[in-house]
Amino acid sequence: MSTTGSPAAAFLQAPARAAAAEAVADAYLATYGETPEGVWSAPGRVNLVGEHVDYTGGLCLPLALPHRTFVALSPRHDDVVRVRSAQEAGADWEGSLADVGPGSPAGWAAYVAGVPWAMGSAHGFDAVVDGHVPLGAGLSSSAALECAVAIALADLAELPTDDAGRAELAGACVQAENVVAGANTGGMDQAASLRCREGGAILLDTRDDAVVHLPLDLAGAGLALLVVDTRAVHSHSGGEYGARRADVERAARVLGVPDLRALDPADLDEALQRLAGESGGEVLQRRVRHAVTEIERVARTADLLRAGRVREVAPLLDASHESLRHDYEVSCRELDLAVDTARAAGALAARMTGGGFGGSAVALVERAAVGEVAAAVGAAFARERLRAPRFLAAQPSAGAGRDA
Ligand code: ADP
Ligand code: MG
Repeated sequence: MSTTGSPAAAFLQAPARAAAAEAVADAYLATYGETPEGVWSAPGRVNLVGEHVDYTGGLCLPLALPHRTFVALSPRHDDVVRVRSAQEAGADWEGSLADVGPGSPAGWAAYVAGVPWAMGSAHGFDAVVDGHVPLGAGLSSSAALECAVAIALADLAELPTDDAGRAELAGACVQAENVVAGANTGGMDQAASLRCREGGAILLDTRDDAVVHLPLDLAGAGLALLVVDTRAVHSHSGGEYGARRADVERAARVLGVPDLRALDPADLDEALQRLAGESGGEVLQRRVRHAVTEIERVARTADLLRAGRVREVAPLLDASHESLRHDYEVSCRELDLAVDTARAAGALAARMTGGGFGGSAVALVERAAVGEVAAAVGAAFARERLRAPRFLAAQPSAGAGRDA
């Protein structure tokens, strides 16, 4: 932007759905010498608020991105799976469903082969994948891949793909990711990719996977949701995730509740006092304060969205970041820089989103100021000699579905 003297920020545009579907069908033809039975796709997601509470019975509020992962696929009569990805050149995978299980296959193919394994499919398939969700950016390219495969297999097997059917499929995708890929995930990503609808976010109750669809008319409010992919990856994130889960589980045990959702915000002070005497009690107090206040922020954000009062969610998003940064300690230098800079450049609110320790931040900005805020963040990263971030505009988009 000329106003900041910085070069225009790099925006990752989502290609038109029809064109992307055609491209993956062409790639399938080039790979297997015939046209695929069909093309399906599923979106990445960004969480508006409700972070690190999906493993303690909490609420979260994700929306689907316009950026999707496409799969061209044909069923086979035997139990063989063959799959190629445009994002994993030279790493095609072929194997038998009988050999798929915990930890097998290794690598990216786990996110594909794990799905028919979890769904109990008897038959294999040939597939080509092409994804437009950045990999490893905290925007759930893994769920997008699983869910594109799941919706394809469900469609071909004539399984129900209404919301209840999608909830089942999400469960299978979580199994694929936890057991076959061996990655920790609480269930928000798969629910968002399968169950979101265009123009809205979902309020997901992670206790029973109940979903409420909420309107999110950003454009109508003159706003945009700017996603900053910091492109930072901190390798200790897996261990820290496990440590946070352990903290939360220990706190719940000490407090005698099944999960931290069970704590009424009105009883928070009393709960914090009871934790004071524990070893590491000060840390547990902060973990609990994050979970309880974050769940409350989600409930309040949902009420505002229901009433169409989108702008008023801003302070809740800001407070979420401060809680994740200081009480839950899952932010990092790059996320804090993105958030602080976006706010200083005029964003109404900004927060880290996803698991933290790298990945992405999200900012609520005036529509007309998107380029300016992005340029300011890009310039701040350049000044700090950090890798150039990437930007996405998050219009609430459709969940997984058939394209062709
Ligand atoms: P995120 O879900 O935030 O993008 P993850 O680490 O959970 O990050 O998942 C990224 C992994 O998912 C990649 O390393 C790769 O193994 C797999 N993956 C995602 N999208 C694709 C794709 N289009 N092709 C091949 N593998 C993919
Ligand atoms: Mg993931």
